[in-house]
Amino acid sequence: MSAVQEARQLDPKKFRDPMVTAGGQPRAHVELRTLDTLWVNTGTLCNIECVSCYIKSSPRNDRLAYISEVEVAGYLDEIATHEFGTRLVGFTGGEPFMNPGFLGMLTDTLDRGYQALVLTNAMKPMWNKRAGLLKLHSRFTGQLTVRVSMDHYTSTIHESERGPNTWKSMLRGLSWLHDQGFTVNIAGRNLTNEPDTTLREGFGRLFDELGLTLDSTNPLDLVIFPEMDANADVPEISEACWEILSTSPDAQMCASARMVVKRKGADAPAVLACTLLPYDERFELGTSLTKSGKRVQLNHPHCARFCVLGGASCST
Ligand code: SF4
Repeated sequence: MSAVQEARQLDPKKFRDPMVTAGGQPRAHVELRTLDTLWVNTGTLCNIECVSCYIKSSPRNDRLAYISEVEVAGYLDEIATHEFGTRLVGFTGGEPFMNPGFLGMLTDTLDRGYQALVLTNAMKPMWNKRAGLLKLHSRFTGQLTVRVSMDHYTSTIHESERGPNTWKSMLRGLSWLHDQGFTVNIAGRNLTNEPDTTLREGFGRLFDELGLTLDSTNPLDLVIFPEMDANADVPEISEACWEILSTSPDAQMCASARMVVKRKGADAPAVLACTLLPYDERFELGTSLTKSGKRVQLNHPHCARFCVLGGASCST
């Protein structure tokens, strides 16, 4: 390992004590302000295997099993009973369209009046369900958004991450969604360390070539996610950081969202603090939404790099 690589490894003294940073300061925490968004992980199985998938989805990984329609309905009932005021239900995987009950749970969600956001690679599993998807689109106009994963604006880099023959299949699905009038946006990544403006210009040229009415400069049309390497060094977040960074606990995902998952072999689904830490048991908050409003200690590198810092740095 080179000296540069060594310097970038996470300091093993960090992210140990949930209450205190390695430097002895009170660790930052987040309280659930409102359950604006319920995320449903439909299961980790996916039709493809990306090189650096944060949740390690693949055609073989069923560590998060297919959650059922009945289980999802149970959480939607709980939201209604307790009047949590939830606005959005998001579906992520794996590839949601591989879950046999997916269109059923999506129908139930829309039927109850929620906005729904579906994350997909827009490849064959979605393509095979397009008749059902189209029915939902016409029945629940304005409630459904589909977010398509596109790792770069070039086929070469997209396929270097997602595997051969993933580009054209994705474009076919994306163009179909767009042509049918679905509300679509793109989940991009910065695998190449290009400046944000360069990336957005590249995506913009592609959108023009494809005839997509998406604005690559609009973060709602093109979300570019930072890379998530849990082994790279990052500062810890102490309570003092909120003021130093001029941000607030309420701005973090875990202040307004929870994710439900079904672990393989588990009797019941579990509620997690957010979508980013599906396997870390320290971020598991029980089986019910009602009891999941516990304070979340920001004791993971993702809390720092992905959520709070967003590329900035904090003196602690
Ligand atoms: S990664 Fe940490 S800070 Fe970000 S949403 Fe999850 S628990 Fe909250």
